[in-house]
Amino acid sequence: MVPDSVYGAIMRSLGVLSWFHRHRHGLVLCFHSVTASDSEAVNFGRMAIRGEFLERMIVDLRRRGIALVSLSEALKLATASPQPFIALTFDDGYRDNYEIAYPILKKFDVPFTIFVTTGLIDRTLPMWWHVLEDVIDRNVFIEYEGVTLASSTKRAKAVAYRLISEYFRHLDQRNVISATDALIAKNDSRLTRADAFDQALDWDMIREMAGSGLATFGGHTVSHPLLRQLDRASLVAEIGDCRHRLREAGGIKPAYFAYPFGQDKEVGALAPAVTEEAGFTAAFTTHARVLRSHDLQHPFRLPRVMLSRKAQNEWIVRAYHSGLPAMIRELWPRHEPSRTAPQLDQSDR
Ligand SMILES: [Zn+2]
Repeated sequence: MVPDSVYGAIMRSLGVLSWFHRHRHGLVLCFHSVTASDSEAVNFGRMAIRGEFLERMIVDLRRRGIALVSLSEALKLATASPQPFIALTFDDGYRDNYEIAYPILKKFDVPFTIFVTTGLIDRTLPMWWHVLEDVIDRNVFIEYEGVTLASSTKRAKAVAYRLISEYFRHLDQRNVISATDALIAKNDSRLTRADAFDQALDWDMIREMAGSGLATFGGHTVSHPLLRQLDRASLVAEIGDCRHRLREAGGIKPAYFAYPFGQDKEVGALAPAVTEEAGFTAAFTTHARVLRSHDLQHPFRLPRVMLSRKAQNEWIVRAYHSGLPAMIRELWPRHEPSRTAPQLDQSDR
């Protein structure tokens, strides 16, 4: 694993390099949680960005003449236009997207898309990773599934987070609530099961944002599974029921979908076809590269760059918008499962 500081330095250098050549690229960015502060506890998952960065990035992009557009506008511009653009998307459906990000996006009149995991909104799926982050932050030993893991140092906490989140990722959805309860019961926890549910948006917030004209809502499954593990019937349920709930509870007819996790090894071969059959018109991966006209020939495999906590820097956004990181990755492809190369390739939670 490359330390954040090295990763940041490499990416910022690419951003500086990109300054020297004009580029007219388009990019779809993927965010998750947007927080007011940058506490250590929310950093184990490395997914949260600060509202202050979101605001700074918007100002920087506007100053450089990069249009901030909706997803449908992005797909139009990608076909032929020389106008450089960026579309902002947020995955899963965090409550802070409404409380922290939405006021900023309204202030600057920036269109955005939220890809919703409907089980989080329906309170059938808890945001277990908030409990995990809190428990790891508070305890020097973590108990789960009869195993005790050290959690006394920063490094041990990072390892514990990775191991236990991997365990949760592979759980059957029906067992996630009881596993969250067990994590709370066996360890010192500030959060309850109710807190884990309340970290998500509710349908009122979704309807209000949809009514603003700035927000587009897309699908992100019912329970955020690893799609590659599912058979066709389960894929139809996860993708089709998500679309159905957005229509029924949100009054939204979603056109776009984002695959959970988003890398090929997580999406699998069947999910894009099922997504198309469910009635979506395009779907996004987390292939970290710019959006070009030829990508539109494969509308269910569109690229999207995930920005995590360590990437919240304007120069890193500039680097991705220049297309340089993807070019370098193509020159020096990463050999799976090595994680020693700079992590220019990313995966959603
Ligand atoms: Zn997600």
